Amino acid sequence: MPSQQLISTVETIKQARPENLMARHFDGDYYLSLNPVLRQRLQKIIASGVENPDSSMGAYAMNPQDYDQFAPLFDAMIHDFHGIPSSVEIKQIHDWDTTRTDCDLAAIDPDLADVSMRVRVARNVSTFPLPGAMDKQQRIDFENLAASAFNELARDPAFGGKYLSITPGSPHEIGAGEYDRRVKAHQMFKDMSADRYLNVAGISGDWPYGRGMYVSNDEEFLVWVGEEDHLRIMAMQRGGNLGELFERLNTGLEKLTLYLPPFATSPKYGAITSCPTNLGAGMRASLHMKLPKLTGNGSDLTRLKQEASHLGVAVRGAGGEHSDAGEDGLVDISPSARLGVTEMQIMQKLYEAAAALWKLETGDKRG
Ligand code: ADP
Ligand code: MG
Repeated sequence: MPSQQLISTVETIKQARPENLMARHFDGDYYLSLNPVLRQRLQKIIASGVENPDSSMGAYAMNPQDYDQFAPLFDAMIHDFHGIPSSVEIKQIHDWDTTRTDCDLAAIDPDLADVSMRVRVARNVSTFPLPGAMDKQQRIDFENLAASAFNELARDPAFGGKYLSITPGSPHEIGAGEYDRRVKAHQMFKDMSADRYLNVAGISGDWPYGRGMYVSNDEEFLVWVGEEDHLRIMAMQRGGNLGELFERLNTGLEKLTLYLPPFATSPKYGAITSCPTNLGAGMRASLHMKLPKLTGNGSDLTRLKQEASHLGVAVRGAGGEHSDAGEDGLVDISPSARLGVTEMQIMQKLYEAAAALWKLETGDKRG
């Protein structure tokens, strides 16, 4: 798109869709100050937000270096999304020590421990472009690299398991039936080729090549390959002991790291991810919990979303992002902050928010 046309298109989006953070912070003069090569790279980064004006972020990094290369745009978007004043310098510190804080929901109420817990971190290796800029061969090469790392990991009895691929012709290939079953079990990621945001960004390109999942024998340690980031590493358990859950993820993550090229990180932004929303700890820790009273049996999330936002947590439906609550009021709650907060603080936030929402839910029941 010619420069002036792009600038006026983004200006129109800025007026019509103030929530589109890319449009809000896009500066035509900055764009024009770039050389033609950089302009073209920036066009690709913002393409999803230009073609989908309803985006809330509207830009995806294509290479780990993009956050520094295009700092005038990204840094403003990141400060805005993560609620960090522009005068405050961003710094990511990691701390997985969960022993200093309460972390067992059963201590609040044994019924509250009847939940499904999941915590995932996004990671990208520094030796490949980010998924939006990978070609088909790179996706396949990365999957092979990940599969050999899983081979090593599988030797550890605590993390033993198998790699399942949906790449046609892969030696690890699973059929459509097993793929669907794993998606329904909330283990495997959905077909990304139908997602218009990811399509325009190139992130879902060459679907389903280079995609798969490692699953431990107890099915509680999982690693996605080739979704929005190179890797999404997660622990998932029923029960209420968040400390145990985080410990499992941290141990597995450290082990897996030994067998992979270095991850892309920055002192400022922590884990480098495709979407600026995931920078920092790269972590989303969630609970699937039943809140039938607060959600009118799942029919209306308005009140819950309001209460949750005061507590610093976001609400999703039980089917993941953009889904609705289940009929029994089953919802996904997770702390919104990911950047400038430690892993331990994220866990603590989830614990406190779950306790507060549970009090509202059961208090309503008694009243
Ligand atoms: P993310 O972006 O953090 O990877 P998504 O919202 O895309 O998460 O959801 C991915 C999958 O994980 C979905 O199937 C969703 O239902 C499932 N999921 C999320 N949190 C939990 C949880 N606490 N327990 C069980 N499944 C979960
Ligand atoms: Mg997702």
